[in-house]
Amino acid sequence: MSTDNYDIVIIGGGPSGLTAAIYTTRRSLKTLVISKDIGGQLSLTDDVENYPGFESIGGMDLSVKFQQQAAKTGTEFLFEEVVSLEKKENGDTKFSVKTASGKEINAKAVILGFGLTPRNLGVPGEIELTGKGVTYCATCDGPLYRGKVVVVVGGGNSALDAAEYMSKLAKKVYMLVRKDKFRGEQILAKKVHDAENIEVVFQVNAKEIKGTDKVESLVYATDDGKETEIDVDGVFIEIGHIAKTDWLKDVVDRTERGEIKISIDNETNQPGIFAAGDVTEITYKQAVISAGEGCKAALQAYRYIQGDQPLIPDWTPKKK
Ligand code: NDP
Repeated sequence: MSTDNYDIVIIGGGPSGLTAAIYTTRRSLKTLVISKDIGGQLSLTDDVENYPGFESIGGMDLSVKFQQQAAKTGTEFLFEEVVSLEKKENGDTKFSVKTASGKEINAKAVILGFGLTPRNLGVPGEIELTGKGVTYCATCDGPLYRGKVVVVVGGGNSALDAAEYMSKLAKKVYMLVRKDKFRGEQILAKKVHDAENIEVVFQVNAKEIKGTDKVESLVYATDDGKETEIDVDGVFIEIGHIAKTDWLKDVVDRTERGEIKISIDNETNQPGIFAAGDVTEITYKQAVISAGEGCKAALQAYRYIQGDQPLIPDWTPKKK
């Protein structure tokens, strides 16, 4: 097992983690980003129209730009899953981060920015048919359903985005929404409304996904129990995300929903561990916010490594 030492280990390669890396490396901190992918949820978004500076850009393209910028200033990358984070008793590097393949990396400070994980629907057939027609990523798997019939479950921005994207590829798109209205933005809802091959069904719940080797149909029901079965080739589950942070339960304080609790300056309750972006308790989970939060976490981590110098807010007027 190899052990490496870094000033900062950033766990997560989405907008928060990569922005943090841009800031820490520009302050000459030896920085390693450990992540399963680049871009996280952002990379799965087909068309990003709300990141300032880009009227319209693919989520993967924007993610790659973040990564290139971070790499240019010296960020190193390790594409792996992190399985543990522990505080060490001795030494200059206070934390030990272990990966699934058994690598151990030591760091003076750690930034947690690994985002959220897609939520499961929890209906019969979902797990068995995942990868056989059940998917959680329209951008990744959408092209496999060209000319076919698919159903998107969910009523938020992710579901609206997925339905609109799939309407350009599939023959027909059903959209199942459990409330009587969407939760997402008007502009996306209008695009869905305007697409001729999308049929939105409100106030229904998915009950079962059927199929032997691959998805064949989905059963949904109204609140009064009336069931309908639709023949579909693909089921796109876009019902939000959960914070997968149980592995950190003895390390940092979390909310009831598993989000990491942070101060206004992105400190967790554990000195030296910072957190940023969607995995934290912030209300709004948007790429531009995550990028800003990553910047804050990086500046605070830098200050911590320098020995917690007195805070000089950016806006402090110079004394005459
Ligand atoms: P959201 O939490 O915003 O929405 C989840 C949706 O899934 C809701 O409609 C919810 O219904 C529904 N849902 C939850 N559980 C179930 C269930 N068991 N069965 C059926 N429906 C269910 O998650 P999103 O992934 O859509 O968005 C996450 C964040 O990412 C948001 O902040 C969003 O704005 C952002 N985002 C932005 C995009 C953009 O701007 N283009 C694109 C994609 C995401 P209910 O309303 O009844 O709870």
